[in-house]
Amino acid sequence: MNIILPCQNLKEKDLRIENGILYLGYGYSFQNVMYNLTYFMKGKNYCYYCKRTIPRNKITMDHMYPRSTGGPTIPQNLIPSCKRCNSEKSDMTFAQYQTYLNLSSFSERKSYLSTITSLKEGIKNMGMFEIPNEWITPVKTSEIHTNIDFANISETKFQKVKSYYKTYHGFQVPMILDRNLYSLDGFYVLFVAKSSDISYVPAIVLDNVEIRIGRN
Ligand SMILES: [Zn+2]
Repeated sequence: MNIILPCQNLKEKDLRIENGILYLGYGYSFQNVMYNLTYFMKGKNYCYYCKRTIPRNKITMDHMYPRSTGGPTIPQNLIPSCKRCNSEKSDMTFAQYQTYLNLSSFSERKSYLSTITSLKEGIKNMGMFEIPNEWITPVKTSEIHTNIDFANISETKFQKVKSYYKTYHGFQVPMILDRNLYSLDGFYVLFVAKSSDISYVPAIVLDNVEIRIGRN
């Protein structure tokens, strides 16, 4: 799939956009680049939920499909929002939150939230994500490249991903890969898969993104 990018060519210190392709340069942080591109395209002083104008330093970024059920940090899943809306929306998807907002009474909202909680547990138990199926491609672990510094690996994060896999027989988030299958996000998924002889991992392959680190 392609991520949404600004239409014009751009050149910043850690990225370059040329003819609809995003090239990530040395020192990039994938998450920061995605946040900055989203603010660039959607603005940084407006909450998309309550429609209020927000001071620039008070704005947050909401994942429309939440991280907890696989929502990726890419512009089509990000929306600037105020802290209040972001925390009220919590783990709901964009659509679930719209339904929630249309319920008027406290008891209706409470019962809707408990339905949502069991729905999410069901999705996790099936080893699935709560994101559009067409975003996901199974990719062979042996074909994925990384340039992660193994000295910086966190044992805690590794164990967290591993124990999630043991419980749900699936991963909480898909990996995000560039068009040459270089890892952009979700490295621990790959690491756990490799250490447990899992041959395929779910991934979002970004056909219009390319890492340029150490390569010409
Ligand atoms: Zn708001």
